[in-house]
Amino acid sequence: MECSLCIHTEKTKKIINGLCVDCLTYKKYPPDFEKMKEEVEERLRKLRGTKDKCILSFSGGKDSVSALKMLVEDFKIKPLCVLVDNKYLAREAIENALNLAKHYNLNLLIINKDFTELFNDALSRGESPCRRCSRLIMRSVWKVAKSLNIKYIITGHELPFGHSAIRRMKEGVEMIRLLAPYRIKEEDKYKMIEHLNFKKPNLAGYTTNCLVLGLAIQRFYDKYGFSFEIDRIATMVRLGLLDKERAKKLVERPEVPLEVILELRKRGLRV
Ligand SMILES: [Zn+2]
Repeated sequence: MECSLCIHTEKTKKIINGLCVDCLTYKKYPPDFEKMKEEVEERLRKLRGTKDKCILSFSGGKDSVSALKMLVEDFKIKPLCVLVDNKYLAREAIENALNLAKHYNLNLLIINKDFTELFNDALSRGESPCRRCSRLIMRSVWKVAKSLNIKYIITGHELPFGHSAIRRMKEGVEMIRLLAPYRIKEEDKYKMIEHLNFKKPNLAGYTTNCLVLGLAIQRFYDKYGFSFEIDRIATMVRLGLLDKERAKKLVERPEVPLEVILELRKRGLRV
């Protein structure tokens, strides 16, 4: 049995009267996107016309590029772009970051890290590396914010933290998920950034920057029989960001292009 609203099945979520438990909660306590928008825009109004007064956590993928476009073109804010290069970003993503910083005349700080050990560990166990990876990245970005006395870190995440697009981090820094209140569909996002010469790498999974994701999903899939992205993708369907057909494709066992495997080996993974 499949949930009538999202793409969960009995294999991945409990289903009651045709709806999965996540959709039931959503129906009972629907998020207030107008309120989210007000909270975000209240903060962004204060930053209008400034440069380097907030940070954009930048990966060069379609989401952070969309967030950057909104910040600069709609909100008239020039953020300090911080890109944490974990050694496994697609070449195209880095190129996007460099090109866009130049295009908008922004400062771009690139922090080089090496997540080889983290990824080798997750891949060998068939577990998702995403949570640990993003936690480490946010820690680096937060350190930059603290050292420069910057209060806001904007990200391109498209899903809210439950009912808010804003999360308080340690010591007064706030993280703002800029795209969350606006619920922009995947195809509209590509249209939004079309004029920016966005380069899209050929990768498995729902990503336009991470070289590891596809293989990580594949290993997890072979262990558990479903993709670890299922909750995120199902939420996107529930919120109207993805259509069901596309979403179902995204949670299938991915094929990883050979060139990606070779690239991962070259960069240090045991795959
Ligand atoms: Zn559902």
